[in-house]
Amino acid sequence: MEFKNDLGKPWKYEEDGFTVIRTSVWSPPGCHPVGCGLKLYVNQAGILEKIEGDENDPITKGRLCVRCLDLKEVIYNPSRILYPMKRHPQDRGKADKWERTTWEEAYAMIKQKRDFVIKNYGVEAIAAYSGTGRNGGIMVQEFAHEVLGTPNACYTQSGYACYTPRAAATAAITGCYYPEIDYGGGVEGTYDNPDYKIPEVIVLWGKEPLPSNGDGLFGHALIDLMKRGTQIISVDPRVNWLATRSAVHLRLRPGTDAAMGMAWLNVIINEELYDRDFVENWCYGFDELKERVADMTPEKAAEICQVDGEIIRKAARMYAVAAQAGIAWGLAIDQNQNGTQAAQCILSLIAITGNLDKPGGQLVGEAKPAVPEAEDGMTSTYAATGHQLDGWVALGEELRNKTIGMQEYPLYVNSIRNAHADLMLDCLMTDKPYRIVMAMIQSTNIIAPTNSAESKKWHQALKRLDFIFATDVFMTPTIQACADLFLPLKCAPEHDSINYTHYSGSQIHFGITNKAIEVGQCKSDVEIAVELGKYLGREQYVTRHTDEKAWLNNRRAQRNLMGGGKEDFDTIREKVHIQQGRKYYKYKTGHLRPDRQTGFLTTTGRVELYSYMFEGVGSDPLPYYQEPPFSPYSTPELAKEYPFILTTGARTYAYFHSEHRQVPLLRELNPNPLLEVNPEDAAALGLLEGQWVEISNQFGEAKFKAKVTPTVRQGTVMAQHGWWFPEQEADEPNLSGVWHSNVNTLIPNHYNGSLGFGAPYKCMICKITPLKESYDVDMNRFQEKFRKVAG
Ligand code: SF4
Repeated sequence: MEFKNDLGKPWKYEEDGFTVIRTSVWSPPGCHPVGCGLKLYVNQAGILEKIEGDENDPITKGRLCVRCLDLKEVIYNPSRILYPMKRHPQDRGKADKWERTTWEEAYAMIKQKRDFVIKNYGVEAIAAYSGTGRNGGIMVQEFAHEVLGTPNACYTQSGYACYTPRAAATAAITGCYYPEIDYGGGVEGTYDNPDYKIPEVIVLWGKEPLPSNGDGLFGHALIDLMKRGTQIISVDPRVNWLATRSAVHLRLRPGTDAAMGMAWLNVIINEELYDRDFVENWCYGFDELKERVADMTPEKAAEICQVDGEIIRKAARMYAVAAQAGIAWGLAIDQNQNGTQAAQCILSLIAITGNLDKPGGQLVGEAKPAVPEAEDGMTSTYAATGHQLDGWVALGEELRNKTIGMQEYPLYVNSIRNAHADLMLDCLMTDKPYRIVMAMIQSTNIIAPTNSAESKKWHQALKRLDFIFATDVFMTPTIQACADLFLPLKCAPEHDSINYTHYSGSQIHFGITNKAIEVGQCKSDVEIAVELGKYLGREQYVTRHTDEKAWLNNRRAQRNLMGGGKEDFDTIREKVHIQQGRKYYKYKTGHLRPDRQTGFLTTTGRVELYSYMFEGVGSDPLPYYQEPPFSPYSTPELAKEYPFILTTGARTYAYFHSEHRQVPLLRELNPNPLLEVNPEDAAALGLLEGQWVEISNQFGEAKFKAKVTPTVRQGTVMAQHGWWFPEQEADEPNLSGVWHSNVNTLIPNHYNGSLGFGAPYKCMICKITPLKESYDVDMNRFQEKFRKVAG
């Protein structure tokens, strides 16, 4: 087929014997929740033949990354599970004991177990575990609170160290949802819209948007802005593609972001580079903040962060004097015990420089006019920013108070309506305060090194449950080890859905996922929720969501997306990509508060540089620096034994967390788990490129193939996360090699910040032992097993 420019084409059209469907995808597979534009070419037999980027997408403009381009190998992968399957609990860990069942029987099994648990233990003895979130924003809270009726939704990562610490800090300090940088995606005409201004500076702080357009920021937009003059400041221990093109690169020691942020505040305040008008009229606690950061001079931060003080000064000035600038802050902030305070610093920087809700600065979402009943400020903040709370509120106070972690971390539990992950693990292991008997695992590979810390403990803990049902696209080591029922999920091209950046809390782009194909007996998360809700007699939920279309329309109405529920899904699907328009300076017009008063939805109505919310739960109201729990400074004796700083979790082009290891082309790109080691360190260890090593510390060990590269700092190593080996023996105890290269066995639980958020995934310590053996995957055998693209 020759390449054709399809600008202006409808959502569905015929071309060269194919039906072409234009769509905006959210995983599975891939990433979330962003919505790159795809064209899906479906042949006469209903088979997906080809994927291209959609030139009509106003942001990605036809550009795609390899994961979506290789979608066929995911959808038609020979190891994909296409039918519901069941297995007797005594056969857990045995791959050949699964047998096909029907959806009807699967729902009946869930109902029978749920009824039994409610009668004998109480509904709180059911838990629902999740990972990154899937399929148009039906998150685990909805499954837990509304469908199953339990308060114990739980994202199992220690300290919920992914995105939520940032979002919760923003809600507490500004009353808004996580503020995305204004890259022009939300306004018609994008960069050329007359209301929009190109950011002079964008700071990428622990964020690498090119390998994965995460949450709401498209990497392509950054490239477009750089072509239009935007300069980049990179704050990252590693060198990545964008860092090599940055004006300033601060290669800080992992885990020291809060010290770096305080030093920027010190420079900007002392040199009076802040926006006086914004500080005087819209901020609370500036003097207290000034006093707090007074000691954190660039020179002091230089010692902590191991970055030259003058470079810190240069970066802070460059950000502050820009007419408009944004800070895109990533997972590196969350995956750190001190992460909430680092987030507090970044929010303070955004606020005092006057970049909040300014064209080309940092955007916040508009508050909904009505707030459901809620007892605490944090919950009402989330409701006001469009977050779904109906199920949480409907549980009632008595049941909500039974959520694991409610007493210890009320802000964590109430703000994200989740049980605390580390305390959930304790509960599973000890049956205290009560026993968890049954669980749902919503498309998360808990024991693979993506999510849970000390994954072997989670493995043992999950096996103690009486009944687990799981939803996913592929069999995973977690399901193989612990589950009794497998419900197969659709991939994005197999269902209709909606796709909103930042879970609608700070909306930039709104996309429609249009169904193009049908595969096996798979169902979408929404279909499962609605059907299971009916089966379980969850009247309130089912009345609102009679079917998948009703769910889509209700969700838009609830989050005020694309005309609310006024236009039917079948009408808006034709638009595929929608830029809803932006209101700037909403704090001046009453659009950030449900009562439509000016200001912010906080106690003082201002951005709380001094946080009443933090103070109210017994935490320090101002940012502070806390050394990582294990480091050459906090544990010098241990650091002699484990001399390297271990960081993990960097995104790759081939994989999304633990997904895609069975996808031939993607596996060819990155066949073995890699440990990045600086050449100086490699030389000292006598380590050669491609040699296998064991990394270990007081918590665990894992094996990796060395990649000797100056992109990591001397003294720091970066281990890839997410690894397991679908080509290996699936039975217990091997479980597809899930323990072989499991970096999360080196990460401890319970090293959370004072609010319960954050964990040291990015800043542990380890030693490196070079190995003589090679564990390279045999790609010929791999290809034999997985190379079969259907038609
Ligand atoms: S970032 Fe890549 S995998 Fe994610 S939706 Fe866009 S093209 Fe697909």
